Amino acid sequence: MPADGDRALEAAVRIVQSRWASPLSGIVGAAALLPGGELVAAASRVAGPALFAHAEAELLNRIDEAGRLNDLPAARIASTLSPCLRGSKSRQGRACAERLVAHDIAEIVVGHIDPTQPPLDEYRRIGLNVILTGNERLRLICDRLAGIFDVYGERVNTEIGTIKERVGEGIFMV
Ligand SMILES: [Zn+2]
Repeated sequence: MPADGDRALEAAVRIVQSRWASPLSGIVGAAALLPGGELVAAASRVAGPALFAHAEAELLNRIDEAGRLNDLPAARIASTLSPCLRGSKSRQGRACAERLVAHDIAEIVVGHIDPTQPPLDEYRRIGLNVILTGNERLRLICDRLAGIFDVYGERVNTEIGTIKERVGEGIFMV
């Protein structure tokens, strides 16, 4: 159901926006629409010098804290950026795509496909279907968020607070 995926994606965007002023919060958001209609969202988080806890990992932690891990296979999951599959030195722990699959999540709706990650076939091979949203407004915002990585490169890992301040919250205006 694309509408459910976009509700989750909207929540993923909004949590990034709501933490724009925080230098400890990153520029990727993830969210889950759980059976029963609750939305749980999380943003990537600074976890150390040049180290991030990714949004999907944070989301799984929030859902675990809420005691809802068992609901994940029936949930709709979304992320502003397609989940990582490759290794990354700036990431805390294992790849997000593997984490999602380990929790029996078979599908994720995303607002932007990360071109630095493997082709979507490789995600399918480990059991994860990555779907780009058809919602143009959400896609535009997620394209802009992902564009920050293109513009600032490695500096995103060390200067996220300053970068967000410079970019400004206008990035969410469509
Ligand atoms: Zn990741």
